[in-house]
Amino acid sequence: MNEVLHPVSSWGRLSREGHRLVALHDRHHVAKAVRDSALPGIAFGNGRSYGDVCLNPGGTLWTARGLDKFIAFDAEAGIIECEAGVLLKEIIDVTLPRGWFPPVVPGTQFVTVGGAIANDVHGKAHHVAGSFGDHVLDLELLRTDGSAMHCSTYENRDWFEATVGGLGLTGIITRARLRLRRVDGPWLDAQTIPFDSLERFFELSAEAKRSFEYTVSWIDCVSGGGGRGVFFQGNHAARRDHPMARRVKTFPLTPPVSLVNGLSLRVFNRLYYALQTAKTGRAEQHYVPFFFPLDNLLEWNRMYGPRGFYQYQSVVPPAVALEATRTMLREISAARLGSFLAVLKTFGDRPAPGMLSFPMPGTTLALDFPNGVERTLKLFGRLNAIVREAGGRLYSAKDACMPRDLFERGYPRLAEFLPYRDPGLSSAMSRRLLGS
Ligand SMILES: Cc1cc2nc3c(=O)[nH]c(=O)nc-3n(C[C@H](O)[C@H](O)[C@H](O)COP(=O)(O)OP(=O)(O)OC[C@H]3O[C@@H](n4cnc5c(N)ncnc54)[C@H](O)[C@@H]3O)c2cc1C
Repeated sequence: MNEVLHPVSSWGRLSREGHRLVALHDRHHVAKAVRDSALPGIAFGNGRSYGDVCLNPGGTLWTARGLDKFIAFDAEAGIIECEAGVLLKEIIDVTLPRGWFPPVVPGTQFVTVGGAIANDVHGKAHHVAGSFGDHVLDLELLRTDGSAMHCSTYENRDWFEATVGGLGLTGIITRARLRLRRVDGPWLDAQTIPFDSLERFFELSAEAKRSFEYTVSWIDCVSGGGGRGVFFQGNHAARRDHPMARRVKTFPLTPPVSLVNGLSLRVFNRLYYALQTAKTGRAEQHYVPFFFPLDNLLEWNRMYGPRGFYQYQSVVPPAVALEATRTMLREISAARLGSFLAVLKTFGDRPAPGMLSFPMPGTTLALDFPNGVERTLKLFGRLNAIVREAGGRLYSAKDACMPRDLFERGYPRLAEFLPYRDPGLSSAMSRRLLGS
């Protein structure tokens, strides 16, 4: 057993506390690795969660990236089976040239299959495709007592529903079988539409959901509750050619202080709105900038400086979405806080596959905020009150400071979930929100 503690951060870089790292390499040896580890522990995928859901300071982290093998690919049916540490990028690289693509992808392709299941991640297609768990045919779950089980919607269905979106707390996912969707090639027929009010955003969302598989919008968070922004919609295009791979850049250093401040925000938002407005209309767009615009600048999270940043992502129900979103944007603007990329999106009505899945019918708003600014936590208190009053919830994958009562109220199936927890698993988040 490795007793040395290694500093580990999640994507928000809010902490760098020591962890006992146990690398998993082969799905057949996970049970032994877990048996030999000090408990409690938690699985760590690729650390793309922003807060503490994948951290266990002072305790064991089973790093799952080494579970990186493909097991089977049925190129007729579009079904892929792989170990849980395989990245969505690796799946796309293998399956896209053969005409298949994951039906649900989050805003980065650098997430593992295990991490995507444990947070039941969503993408721009929620209104047609639901969330990631809707396309998991089955998975293998290893408990810390050494037992393993197959879970799907027809076998151990209760365990499946607890594990999809289960924050890594029901066991270690070792492998999964995923359903893909047919595509002709790597291009999207995309459309950019600027809007100047939140009312217009809701009209565009309602129109787009009938004819576009993917929708999302950027909102200018410094313009107050007015709601100026840019709506993006798209469908897979029939074009088949594959362009030359583009060179990816890396954010070069960690600046001593956050580069995100009132001035840089105002300048960026004005420029970004002008740039996107100039692109109004249709264009064929490659899937990387369409789905994963931030993946072209690796380690962009360093721009917030050594103290890191929070992401705040909420969803509020349709009946109150307009007013609640407007009030939240006003609060953010009045606090002179916000982020370059503020994302607004409407979820569809499809019931979520997991007991603790985040998506629910309504509108989701996501913004980044620098850590170390006193106003940030005060602002979160006001935003929490709006979300609570609206009957909404916060996204655990992005969270580092949600109050316990908001978690309990936001996730009505929590009591149903608790019996499925593995007593050998614990994270900083589970201790914060569940007491153990
Ligand atoms: C730029 C960016 C954009 C994003 N956009 C979106 C988005 O659009 N939609 C969205 O839903 N999310 C989004 N996210 C969040 C991200 O998709 C999730 O946090 C995802 O779960 C991260 O996966 P990971 O492999 O890095 O897992 P980690 O962050 O390392 O872990 C996440 C959870 O999975 C558990 N876990 C990991 N591996 C296993 C395993 N083998 N067995 C059991 N549990 C496991 C961990 O314990 C933890 O609870 C974004 C993140 C970034 C950085």
